[in-house]
Amino acid sequence: MTIGPYLADPEVRRRSWLMRQGAGAAGAEPNAGHLALVEPERSGLPVRVLTQNVDGLHQRSGLPERKVLELHGTAQQVQSSVAGCAVGWHRRWSVWRRGAGPGVSDPACQECGGVLKPRTVMFGEALDPVVLGRAEAIAKACDLFVAVGTLLQVYPVAALPQTALDGGARLVIVNAEPTPYDPAAYEVIREAISLALPALVRRIVAGGLVGE
Ligand SMILES: [Zn+2]
Repeated sequence: MTIGPYLADPEVRRRSWLMRQGAGAAGAEPNAGHLALVEPERSGLPVRVLTQNVDGLHQRSGLPERKVLELHGTAQQVQSSVAGCAVGWHRRWSVWRRGAGPGVSDPACQECGGVLKPRTVMFGEALDPVVLGRAEAIAKACDLFVAVGTLLQVYPVAALPQTALDGGARLVIVNAEPTPYDPAAYEVIREAISLALPALVRRIVAGGLVGE
């Protein structure tokens, strides 16, 4: 999960690929929280999801790809670690896995021979400035910013609620633990996400919270 050892050590990469193959086989499905976020979209409310998850479940739950910003990238795709090599950049992990065949434990980029990595932001890597810039613009322009399941302590993503507040938005926090933003929030919800989010979304779709 840390870029330095990943690039330097084939054994780290073998364990990483094995772990991801195991995780893929587990077959995670969208939960009630993911599914709830599709409702405002279907009701015609302009919704954007800014996520630190890399599992692609927001898209699988039915949100259009363009409405989901993956701040930490995606584990659904692989990329070459070599700067300037675009091959593999948008190659889907599932397609690559079929093509690589059995017994390949540390695959190389098929184009340049460089180290292949998941298209996630590993520890030691910076967030994609284009994605982060889009997230900042969305936070600045929104009427309601809902922070879900995050302690809001790791920057730069933790700055997004402040950007929303500065732009005049209301902030709602759904998290089991206190966050630094709780005093500035319009509402803080401590329930489990799978319960809290469907209820919150029903209120939003009914016209509550925004402009009430
Ligand atoms: Zn390459």
